[in-house]
Amino acid sequence: MSKLKIAIQKSGRLSEKSLDLLKECGIKLWNGDLQLKAEARNFPVEMLFLRDDDIPQYVEQGVADVGILGENEVWEKDKNVFTVKKLGFANCKMSLAIPKDEQYTDLSYFSNKRIATSYPGILKKFFDENGISVSIEEIGGSVEIATGIGLADAIFDIVSTGNTLIMNGLKEVKVVAKSEAVLIANKSLGEDKQSILDKLLFRLKAVLSASQNKYILLNAPNASIQKISDLLPGMKAPTILPLAQEDWSSLHSVVKEDEFWDVIDQLKDLGAQGILIVPIEKMVV
Ligand code: ATP
Ligand code: MG
Repeated sequence: MSKLKIAIQKSGRLSEKSLDLLKECGIKLWNGDLQLKAEARNFPVEMLFLRDDDIPQYVEQGVADVGILGENEVWEKDKNVFTVKKLGFANCKMSLAIPKDEQYTDLSYFSNKRIATSYPGILKKFFDENGISVSIEEIGGSVEIATGIGLADAIFDIVSTGNTLIMNGLKEVKVVAKSEAVLIANKSLGEDKQSILDKLLFRLKAVLSASQNKYILLNAPNASIQKISDLLPGMKAPTILPLAQEDWSSLHSVVKEDEFWDVIDQLKDLGAQGILIVPIEKMVV
């Protein structure tokens, strides 16, 4: 029986979340201490712990069958792999930044400027598409200091809070792309491995939908129950149970976490009381 080889980052921002996600999918590893490889006890997968930069190449070559890494690395390496699923963590922007006292107009500002980055591929493609000629200085890290030491006029780098930019006297002027962690796969997995990947995907979807949805319980007068049901359709339809108080019911449903605050005022206007929002562990739709 073949095993699906999953590459994840050995040590870095993605490592812990990648392992946690697989754990939530019920995958238990024999040796959790991040050696080069680890086998799962209860699912036909084998983990490979690698540098995230190398994962696209290994997945293209079939050294690993699938991998978890930032989309930014997938775009930069531009290997022949499938992006199978967005995973909803390690969200960041890839932005252009310039010294804070500079006057920014539009993209033509960058014409013939020197831009330092660890992502020359993405940057070149972006400016080529916009018909602007720039000079790209590729550096391995600490890109944010490049303007301060006179290496470049601007930088292109990963931004999350923007604090690093501010600390280095820079301001973000253009978001070029938004990235998050993704699952990539080799383009010619055999039938066995594809079927393991399908099982893994089924579990991943259950875990990710659960994290994006909440279970909602509330009490409401029967006269409002239909309108509230329309607001909270849930997975099929809400559950409605009579309360031990005449003319009142309890309604149970599922709501998207990011839609909850939009409906809460309407629920209150319709007379809903005792609203409880409860996390969901797994969700199979
Ligand atoms: P190295 O390859 O030297 O280990 P790295 O920069 O590739 O360094 P990390 O810093 O661990 O490794 O980042 C891994 C991924 O996490 C990045 O490719 C990106 O997708 C994401 N990421 C990086 N910085 C942030 C951030 N500040 N906020 C959110 N996600 C980030
Ligand atoms: Mg890296």
